[in-house]
Amino acid sequence: MTKHKALALYSGGLDSILACRVIMNQGIEVKAIHFITPFFGYDKKGREDEVRDYSFAHYGIKLEIVDVSHDYLEIVKHPKHGYGKNLNPCMDCKIFLISEARKLLDEEGASFLITGEVLGQRPMSQRRDAMRIIERDSGAEGILLRPLCAKHLKPTIPEERGWVDRDKLLDFKGRGRKSQMMLAEQLGIEGYPTPAGGCLLTDSNISARIRRLLNCADVNIDDLLLTKVGRHFALAEETLLVVGRFEDENKQIEQLSQKGDTLLELSENPGPLSLLRGPYTPEILEVAASITVRYSKAREDKRVKVAYREEGNHLTQEIRVDPISDQVLEDYRIENLA
Ligand code: SF4
Repeated sequence: MTKHKALALYSGGLDSILACRVIMNQGIEVKAIHFITPFFGYDKKGREDEVRDYSFAHYGIKLEIVDVSHDYLEIVKHPKHGYGKNLNPCMDCKIFLISEARKLLDEEGASFLITGEVLGQRPMSQRRDAMRIIERDSGAEGILLRPLCAKHLKPTIPEERGWVDRDKLLDFKGRGRKSQMMLAEQLGIEGYPTPAGGCLLTDSNISARIRRLLNCADVNIDDLLLTKVGRHFALAEETLLVVGRFEDENKQIEQLSQKGDTLLELSENPGPLSLLRGPYTPEILEVAASITVRYSKAREDKRVKVAYREEGNHLTQEIRVDPISDQVLEDYRIENLA
């Protein structure tokens, strides 16, 4: 009998691990594709070998990490099926990722796709009608198998043709996690990540920051990565100030700074590193400096000296400002402007 291979959409969460293992337990080869974008999975960027080795050692799952950041941005900007509670375009996201995985089938010598979706688990994208739309619009009708809830769904081609034994598939349904946890125990799967915290597009604060960025013409990956770091203030239509909250964020801000950015820090007191991005006037620079002082040890002082320099330029200049008042500060906070 011909051996069939499956490609799995893999998020690193328990459900996707279980989906792979349920199919692998039938003697079917599975390759997991872990798509990453600045909104999810990006911490794996640059650590691909380590993540691949971990997944194989802990779960026996062969994994490949595929960065789809560039094309994904269009999905976030113009989702055909709209957004969820925040900036999460879940329907379009699934359609896009499944169709990207479908395109890899030939190259990988695989004949069907699997996901860890569970019927009724998510309000937007895991309703029965939504799941059908996802299959149709991703071009994966008949070849998209959801092993964890397959018994609630119409049999797929792999089941009809006997590549996969439908009797050994599952009937999970709804938002509960008990069945998944019991199955994980049966399969000896330990140390899996908790479900929360996966996708930045579901975070209301970060969504507010990203939404504002999407209106700008040339958004790049570093702009998006910056939304995860520090406190964010809109000082003008296209001018952003990011203030580090602790040492590690100051370092990240420095790493993510680009040509044309201005970096600010206190000359004589400990305090944050701030990054000013976009066009600015002397008045805007003063506001940026006064916000930087507000988050420093000199927040009670007057006429505090702030040094600023353009990224890539060693020439440092200084201005003296008072810390901004808390009331005025709130008018600039991006989350308040959303
Ligand atoms: S939560 Fe994020 S990663 Fe998950 S489907 Fe929605 S947009 Fe995609």
